[in-house]
Amino acid sequence: MQRFDPRSAAVATTCPYCGVGCGVLATPDGSGGATIAGDPRHPANFGRLCSKGSALNETLSLEGRLLHPMLRDGAQLRRASWDEALSEVAKGFRRVIDAHGPQAVAFYLSGQLLTEDYYAANKLLKGFIGSPNVDTNSRLCMASTVAGHKRAFGADVVPGCYEDLDLADLIVLVGSNAAWCHPILFQRILRNKQERGAKLVVIDPRRTATAEEADLFLPIAPGGDVALFCGLLVHLVANGAVRDDYVMRHTEGFAQTLAAARAIAPTIAATAAAAGLREVDVAAFFELFAATPKTVTAFSQGVNQSAQGTDKVDAIVHCHLATGRIGEPGAAPFSLTGQPNAMGGREVGGLANQLAAHMGFSEAEVDRVRRFWNAPRIATREGLKAVQMFEAIGRGEIKALWVMGTNPAVSLPQADEARAALSRLDLFVVSDNVLSNDTINAGAHVLLPAQAWGEKSGTVTNSERRISRQRAFLPSPGEAEPDWRIVGEVAARMGFGEAFRFRSAADVFREHAALSAFENDGARSFDIGGLAELSGEAYDALRPTFWPIRAGETKGRERFFAEGSFFTADGKARFVAPERPALKAATSAAFPFRLNTGRIRDQWHTMTRTGKSPRLARHLPSPFVEIHPADAAAAGLVDGGFARVSTRHGECLLAVAVTERQRRGELFAPIHWSDETASLARVGALVAAVTDPHSGQPEAKATPARIDAVSFKSHGFLLSRAALRPPFAELATKVALAHGHGLLFASNAGLELWRDYVAALGDRADAADYFDEARGVYRAARFAEQRVDLCLFVGRQDARAAFDQATALFEKEWLTIEERKALLSGRAADGAEEDGAIVCACFGVGAKAIDKAIANGARSVAEIGARLRAGTNCGSCIPELKRAIAAARACCEE
Ligand code: SF4
Repeated sequence: MQRFDPRSAAVATTCPYCGVGCGVLATPDGSGGATIAGDPRHPANFGRLCSKGSALNETLSLEGRLLHPMLRDGAQLRRASWDEALSEVAKGFRRVIDAHGPQAVAFYLSGQLLTEDYYAANKLLKGFIGSPNVDTNSRLCMASTVAGHKRAFGADVVPGCYEDLDLADLIVLVGSNAAWCHPILFQRILRNKQERGAKLVVIDPRRTATAEEADLFLPIAPGGDVALFCGLLVHLVANGAVRDDYVMRHTEGFAQTLAAARAIAPTIAATAAAAGLREVDVAAFFELFAATPKTVTAFSQGVNQSAQGTDKVDAIVHCHLATGRIGEPGAAPFSLTGQPNAMGGREVGGLANQLAAHMGFSEAEVDRVRRFWNAPRIATREGLKAVQMFEAIGRGEIKALWVMGTNPAVSLPQADEARAALSRLDLFVVSDNVLSNDTINAGAHVLLPAQAWGEKSGTVTNSERRISRQRAFLPSPGEAEPDWRIVGEVAARMGFGEAFRFRSAADVFREHAALSAFENDGARSFDIGGLAELSGEAYDALRPTFWPIRAGETKGRERFFAEGSFFTADGKARFVAPERPALKAATSAAFPFRLNTGRIRDQWHTMTRTGKSPRLARHLPSPFVEIHPADAAAAGLVDGGFARVSTRHGECLLAVAVTERQRRGELFAPIHWSDETASLARVGALVAAVTDPHSGQPEAKATPARIDAVSFKSHGFLLSRAALRPPFAELATKVALAHGHGLLFASNAGLELWRDYVAALGDRADAADYFDEARGVYRAARFAEQRVDLCLFVGRQDARAAFDQATALFEKEWLTIEERKALLSGRAADGAEEDGAIVCACFGVGAKAIDKAIANGARSVAEIGARLRAGTNCGSCIPELKRAIAAARACCEE
């Protein structure tokens, strides 16, 4: 069933990044690589891919891969056989269980795992070891949506589907930079806007690329969402927009919730004040919402990553329930999931407060799963959620941890404490496909090599409840194995082999599907019993399918709740009165700013995959903090300079980006960089571990922080064929290059030290340098076989422009004399096009090329696309193209 015949045609699989779940056609090239294209038949993307998906081919190399089991031997890790490593894990768990009980064991899983991997891991720990402590990095991502759905609908059900974004007349995006984080869905929204005239409202503290496309942008204050949607509910009632028949027949709790909403946001003026918005904008939004039956409110991390995330989700849901705009074509509240298989993890019970297959820990549910699994030691109560789990590790209560496919030492809040906690473990197991990351480097005792995307085979579920196949198209390298098989081998060594006799991913899937249907009379939403009897061939050929798909059905269901039938005991949805909105941690004189953390367009999570792509590295290559110009001026910060960002929990040194897209008093820093890729840029270390009381999700968007200017003598970069790390590059970021290694740095070393460093590298036969002490500039280049071997720039100015130029020359196989000269001058060679920072990652088009096209008459995105192809593939860069056009226009008008 494996599909890695190098002569084979394209293999249909699914992108491993965001929850859009785009279909990918991967055609192996026979030597470990593949060409990548969007799958025109996949209903999530119809052939389109964003910049990250398009660059998947650049992430397939085996460099840095974990290819063999490893065991810790003192300070070192040594290669081990599978048998030795698996026995070590099984014996270690057994030792901890015997001494401290099963609850001293925990698994920390990932939305990157396939459903089959998740199922096996959850079954082993909750069913057979008997510990409930299985949680996942989805806790940091969508847990508030899960809690909000369960409270309101009685089950974790997304009521709509992507087609609703095509059919809506109004799309409200809340806390979602979809243009960067769900680009293919955002393109669908823009198409709807263009072709059907749909309106777009964006609610976000930052004027993001998404906000720039909005008909109405509400730059909301952090924590203002509950007040805004309470105010909307009050407005809908006052203006006769409530569907009384729907509320009467299908819901409970409306009156109490309305009373609470009136107490929080009684008028438009009060709403505007509570949400930090202008009254006129709030009024415009409320009128638009009230007047537009076909409305989709889509929300993402800005709503979820909050200590009041569950209330935020339900405040949005209430406005849809009140107007009956749910489950109708073009009308639904819609959660945009962050990870590729966060939904699959929710389905199998990968969260600590779920048991399995959307069942919880009631006596009846535990009994049902116990009988299905034949698992006498099954866990009978909820386990510890991610933040609590790592706190319990820190206190020494959890003694053994297995981390699968995730990097909690970077991504958890108060990440320094989380990392320190790992050193207290008696047994620390990591299954992953990288040899080194911050979590592994925190002292893992056992490393188990897992298959990566392209090698593994199974299923994922996207944001619209659609199950798609991820298929293998490359051979499994080294001794890598699928996670479900690794789990099964450990289970067998612990004496549970009978329950883990899976021969294939299809076997695991069939059991998962059968459990979802087991004693399910329709009371449980998640039922894929219609897939429980799939043959191996049918599983392999499975087309993207909505759940539920019950036994006897051939088609899944797109929408829920137009006619009520919620998954509560009485079939009615619940309005739940929210708490009065308040951010958990207060700012102070010492920490006067609010730190918001998030993602950038071309990187994914902690960069273990996207960090390999030279193309993706060129958009925003180094870690930064965004700040409003007035705040920057007050703090003595300049664009391109550096700052120390501190909170009560840690500190980072980041490049400063001064921008009016940021609200005053707020900072934004991306989450992607780690100790593996940069110095002092693990932003998770800054984030407070305060959590939502219902979902356990941490508040990643409002930590009190301070920012102080930091100066370095010089900035610069080093491009080299061999990996080099000059000791006096105090602040350094690795940047992927096609045939070498890039390092952007800041330093306090004198120029002579840099000159001596280059001299000490030897071989000056074909070398050139430029030393200007007065201007503080040192540049050096060495050449070998007509191409650049090494290039160093040290200067007082931000080196980014020269870096882009030098990178382009470094990647050339052969340089002309002019290009050699240009390399040291930091300017383009005569006649050569200077590209600048990459804007369009799909076609490698830089900012300078775009500016030049505009100067030469390109007046629209389409005209730029016609000249340069920029913006014609995934469309992720379209907002930046529009910004460049607007900037040129403003410049002309001055
Ligand atoms: Fe992958 Fe981009 Fe599609 Fe997300 S939008 S699934 S990252 S191609």
